[in-house]
Amino acid sequence: MSIFPKRILLKLSGETLIGNQGFGIQQQACLQITKSIQQIQQLGIQLGIVIGGGNIFRGINLKANGMPRVPADHMGMLATLLNGIALQQALISLEVKTCVMSALDCPKVAESYQWSKALQYLEEGIVVIFVGGTGNPYFTTDTAAALRASEIQANLLLKATKVDGIYNQDPLKNTQAVKYDRISYSQVLAEKLQVMDATAIALCRNHQIPIFVFNMKRLFENRLDHVLTDYSHGTLVDDGEIGHEANKLDR
Ligand code: UDP
Repeated sequence: MSIFPKRILLKLSGETLIGNQGFGIQQQACLQITKSIQQIQQLGIQLGIVIGGGNIFRGINLKANGMPRVPADHMGMLATLLNGIALQQALISLEVKTCVMSALDCPKVAESYQWSKALQYLEEGIVVIFVGGTGNPYFTTDTAAALRASEIQANLLLKATKVDGIYNQDPLKNTQAVKYDRISYSQVLAEKLQVMDATAIALCRNHQIPIFVFNMKRLFENRLDHVLTDYSHGTLVDDGEIGHEANKLDR
């Protein structure tokens, strides 16, 4: 039996595609990340990816500049389509089979999201890139990741962030911040820890999907196999009953 989870949902924020630019998509960054994605696929793990759009537009920022929230969020969701296409093209260049499924119907660009079809692709070993968030304004792509992870019955949600895991305070602002190796969903919610929004955490808790939070730099180092075999590389969020070790996630 494999020590790896059978099916993973990887949440990538749009920022992972920025590279050394301040905005948008850098092709080189896409290519570097896709090597890590290929690595997961080669381990025989079924992989779904939810990509954010914050490298292009976040609805909340557009609203702050005077745009109504709903069209601002539409722009944010469309930004995730741009990212999904870029990621898919980088994966194709490595001969990784992928498809892009969108929650916002845009049939000339991406397949419309359909649960049964997504499951079929995953079973066939095709990497499914979920774009368009949940398809609704007022949500985030973290919530979309928790939603898709629930729908596809992922064994693990991998969330790449800017730091090494979850801390009791922002480690980029406070050098005294302490990292958690493992924490419950309830504690993340109670302490309002800024890792994913509360809706996403609650959804994962309801569906018993462990979340592993790790540093996105691992994606660029092609060290995702290390992340999956040694949970000291980040923070595991679960309810304290699901095991700490990767093999206990093989359910
Ligand atoms: N968005 C939305 N509904 C969703 C998911 C995303 O309206 O279900 C919009 C929202 O404006 C958000 C933007 O898309 O700011 C980009 O998503 P997010 O901020 O989650 O991207 P990330 O921070 O992960 O790059």
